Amino acid sequence: MRRNFLKILGSYLIGFLVYPFSSAIANNVIGYNTKLSKNEDEYNIINPDLTDEQKKIMFDEATERAGSSILNREKREGTYHCANCGVKLFESTAKFDSGTGWPSFTEAIPGVFKTKIDYSFGMKRTEYHCANCGAHHGHVFDDGPNGGKRYCNNGLCLLFIPTS
Ligand SMILES: [Zn+2]
Repeated sequence: MRRNFLKILGSYLIGFLVYPFSSAIANNVIGYNTKLSKNEDEYNIINPDLTDEQKKIMFDEATERAGSSILNREKREGTYHCANCGVKLFESTAKFDSGTGWPSFTEAIPGVFKTKIDYSFGMKRTEYHCANCGAHHGHVFDDGPNGGKRYCNNGLCLLFIPTS
């Protein structure tokens, strides 16, 4: 009787000691670094449902993992909008498979983006962001189909609205 009691007490104590430790490990596994470089109120966050990953890309110019966006495989007719402010950015007719792992477009709706030269990672690239809300979307290159542009857009910054 006394032995059983000690056994129960012992496993209870082990559980009590291990529990906070195991939950800390679980948090580290989730621990994708989503810390923003500024306070949230310093960003122009219009959509309150943006995830931490979306905020990290749109306001700290992070990049999603290549091939991770379901929009890479999106082939339906429709329009692509800014996930923060909802402005229409691309028509589905401008989308093409660039093989890069990011949704790619040959042209944007005129005037919807502003650009700046980005020198990060030792490269000179043209970064573009939503002219309406300022959210970063991707980089634009001159190696698109038929000598045109290639807008390389993070899928997490886009909201696709199918026509039908
Ligand atoms: Zn926007």
